[in-house]
Amino acid sequence: MAVPGGTLPRPGADGGQSGGTPSLDALLEAIPIACAAFQDGSGQLVAGNRRYHDQFGPVPGHVSRERLMRELHPGSTGDTTGRRDVRLPHNGRWYSLHWGRVEDAGQPLDLLSAVDISERIEVLDSHKSQQEKLLFTSRLMSVGEMAATLAHELNQPLAAIVNYLNGSLRLVGQAGGPVQVERALQAARTQAEHASAVIGRVREFVRAREPRRSAHRLGGIADTVLELLRLEAERQQLCIELALPEDLPEVYADRVMVEQVLLNLVKNAIEAMRETPAERRALRVEGRVNLDGDVEVRVIDRGSGLSKAQQDQLFSPFFTTKADGLGIGLAICRSIIEYHEGRMFFEPAPGGGSVFGFTLPVAQGRQ
Ligand code: ADP
Repeated sequence: MAVPGGTLPRPGADGGQSGGTPSLDALLEAIPIACAAFQDGSGQLVAGNRRYHDQFGPVPGHVSRERLMRELHPGSTGDTTGRRDVRLPHNGRWYSLHWGRVEDAGQPLDLLSAVDISERIEVLDSHKSQQEKLLFTSRLMSVGEMAATLAHELNQPLAAIVNYLNGSLRLVGQAGGPVQVERALQAARTQAEHASAVIGRVREFVRAREPRRSAHRLGGIADTVLELLRLEAERQQLCIELALPEDLPEVYADRVMVEQVLLNLVKNAIEAMRETPAERRALRVEGRVNLDGDVEVRVIDRGSGLSKAQQDQLFSPFFTTKADGLGIGLAICRSIIEYHEGRMFFEPAPGGGSVFGFTLPVAQGRQ
């Protein structure tokens, strides 16, 4: 049909079928996509099939070639050459518009055919978001690898420090050295042993592996995370309050991934309260079942909070306000939670500070 320079059969005297040559209307009607013919010159609609009227009818100016194109392509001159992909505002569907020249009864016409490409666009969009997710996951893995390497490197010197301290303690004991030196050596050994234990946990924690989802108690996940952050919290004279109801249902999740999310949120909350006066500092981790029947975890701090502009960028990769920040923590958290079919959110805490939260599906009926 849309062959440049093509010739349409002439309509019969009755305007319909004549001698087996269908009219322009009948021809357009037979085409299984939206089609319309516009007069050369004036650009007025001459004929359009039912699909054209159903799909393009609500577009203002659809009876004029130029107005239609200006409406669908704001800023354009109404030009009708080549192929255009447009989105119809009233139904949100995407169409690929093709223009061709034909002749009807010696009269040149511009023929528009519109292919519905909405499904193709949706596939492309979901492919793009899959790509972004993959990118996040690979970043997550590289951060994990960095942490694993660091933990491995630190493990050796820490073990050596503990050995030297044990040796020194033995020597001081044998020589009957000053008791203050002995106490200092013992305190140093306790700290080094603790650091080794933390490093050991980190190594276990970041071990790269495939996500494995099963039923987990949030209490157990929170205990692991709070243990890892205990020293940091103590250093800031901060007591972390854990408020998880006894009867909170188990969640269907990859334990290590959810630990990483919670660790990131609690760590951010601790860091956000650096400038908060010690007596006002408070960090609460609470859990409940929300109205959708999912488990919702909220980490509430009394830190600096966030401006509106900061809130808008919060989950974008590389957004950070910290001199030494990477700005990928929250982006990774969101991709982990979305992988679990959950939702990450932020809201200002009443009385100042922030609430960072996420949802996870309950395990019952999922395994
Ligand atoms: P990073 O901590 O490495 O900067 P994140 O993704 O963890 O990266 O966080 C991005 C930014 O979000 C932080 O730099 C900070 O500005 C803000 N932010 C995160 N958590 C909090 C919080 N609890 N209170 C205030 N700001 C926060």
